[in-house]
Amino acid sequence: MAIVICVLLAGLAIGFTLFVREQDIPPAPIENAELKHLQDRRSVLYENLKDLQFEYHQGKLSDEDYQSLKHGFLYDLAGVMDSIDRMEIRKGKRAKPAPHSEPAGAARPGHAPKGKPQPDPAAGASICPACKGSNPAENRFCGHCGAALKQ
Ligand SMILES: [Zn+2]
Repeated sequence: MAIVICVLLAGLAIGFTLFVREQDIPPAPIENAELKHLQDRRSVLYENLKDLQFEYHQGKLSDEDYQSLKHGFLYDLAGVMDSIDRMEIRKGKRAKPAPHSEPAGAARPGHAPKGKPQPDPAAGASICPACKGSNPAENRFCGHCGAALKQ
């Protein structure tokens, strides 16, 4: 008997693992590849900027060339960073600013529920065949005498 339970538990564990993985993997592999591509591009641009600064400090570049190349790289970098940001937001990696949460069902003072506080005895009450006592409809046995109630 214990073996049967063990096998069942193992089966459940494997099934659960597979199920969870199935949920985790699908988030669009295409989008992941795109994100990877953007991250690679960002690294390349960082490298380019470093090289550019290095060459400028070595005196290999004129001020004008340095400025225009740097602006080009920074412009590309800004675009890449923006794309990465948007992609990560779309994937829900970053917490979005929470909208003002107002409790929808908040009880308003001075707006007490109208109507009877007691449940309507006429609504679905069942009358005990033995003692004629009134019981809630969901009761299967009389609350007064314990007799079985007809449904
Ligand atoms: Zn009864």
